[in-house]
Amino acid sequence: MKMPLVELDGDEMTRILWQWIKDYLIKPFVNLKTEYYDLGLKNRDETDDNVTVEAAEAIKKYGVGVKCATITPNADRVTEYSLKRMYKSPNGTLRAALDGTVFRSPVLCEGIKPLVPNWKKPIIIARHAYGDIYSCKEYSAKKGDNAELTINGDNSIPVFDFEKGPGVVMGMFNTEKSIASFARSCMNYALDKKTDLWFGAKDTISKIYDHTFKDIFNEIFIKEYSEKFKKANIEYFYSLIDDIVARVMRSSGGMIWACKNYDGDVMSDMVATAFGSLAMMTSVLVSPDGKFEYEAAHGTVTRHYYKHLKGEETSTNPVATIFAWTGALRKRGELDKIKALSDFADKLEKATVSTIESGYMTKDLIPLYSGKAQVSGLNSLQFIEKIAQSL
Ligand code: NAP
Ligand code: MG
Repeated sequence: MKMPLVELDGDEMTRILWQWIKDYLIKPFVNLKTEYYDLGLKNRDETDDNVTVEAAEAIKKYGVGVKCATITPNADRVTEYSLKRMYKSPNGTLRAALDGTVFRSPVLCEGIKPLVPNWKKPIIIARHAYGDIYSCKEYSAKKGDNAELTINGDNSIPVFDFEKGPGVVMGMFNTEKSIASFARSCMNYALDKKTDLWFGAKDTISKIYDHTFKDIFNEIFIKEYSEKFKKANIEYFYSLIDDIVARVMRSSGGMIWACKNYDGDVMSDMVATAFGSLAMMTSVLVSPDGKFEYEAAHGTVTRHYYKHLKGEETSTNPVATIFAWTGALRKRGELDKIKALSDFADKLEKATVSTIESGYMTKDLIPLYSGKAQVSGLNSLQFIEKIAQSL
């Protein structure tokens, strides 16, 4: 490697998997160079969470990061770790710093069949993680309340007169800047993955709000991307969200589905469940200027960690974390023109998938498996060693 990967270590069971993945699957094969940031909760507390900010800066500098799952502290964690304060979600901090869009895609294996039988290729959900109902203001209206939307204190738009009885009102927003970043991140990622991009909103009903999303996507596509898409032989396709949902269900997969914030929240859970398991979902944060941060979509698997601490055997699935590493190594290889590095990432992914396809898997996958191989349920380390053997 020429340039380092920015390595963001994390918490609990995934911190243990992290070390094993490096020791058994990467270091024996790659001359690994990383710039290490310990985002484990103890070190976040010791550094007043500056380590997270520094890690985000390092990703901006080097362009590629790989992150282990981390605890987002709540009141219980403040007690458990004797924290100075209740720190913000590290993912929130990274997302804000990189102004990025989150793309989630499933790892597919023969024998682990999606619940939708015609889905043969991954469906990648791109969620706009800014604004809309996630930063709205709401109000419980009483009978007799008259709701208006007021702009700059004078220009009022009537919303609803609750003269006949009580109800609810909501005010929400988004910004053209954030929508444009979202559009560019999606289009860059489509080019990167050489995959079609679909986007759906409700522009027929929401003639200003949702229509603005449609217009910004369209304008950016025509001005900046249509030629590049043509060259890459991929397409950008907009339709009403209803139509997109129907088309996705009938499709064989293999597209990036750009979703507004709420749609992405809901649809990513549907897609993850339909493809099998959260432990098989990878996630990458892509900034509009082409910085990449790879991670697993699941958390730190606390329940397994407490078992591990008691000396009990755990069978935690490392696949999404392995794919976070391969995503980052492949990207580093592409950027630095080190083909052997990208090739290694491909090999490690193939070895992981074929280990499962030959019947060796962690216990979470057993109920989902309907392939022909004789099934052996392994613990986490046995599974990682099995992959290492086939490398
Ligand atoms: P979680 O860690 O995703 O685990 C929830 C459950 O899903 C587990 O108990 C386990 O089910 C199953 N599971 C998830 N990943 C698995 C894997 N790799 N292998 C096998 N089973 C897996 O979610 P959580 O328990 O709600 O959250 C734990 C901590 O993670 C929290 O402190 C939260 O703040 C943090 N978190 C971090 C991130 C992130 O860094 N991106 C994301 C989400 C949550 P069974 O118990 O049934 O085996
Ligand atoms: Mg959700």
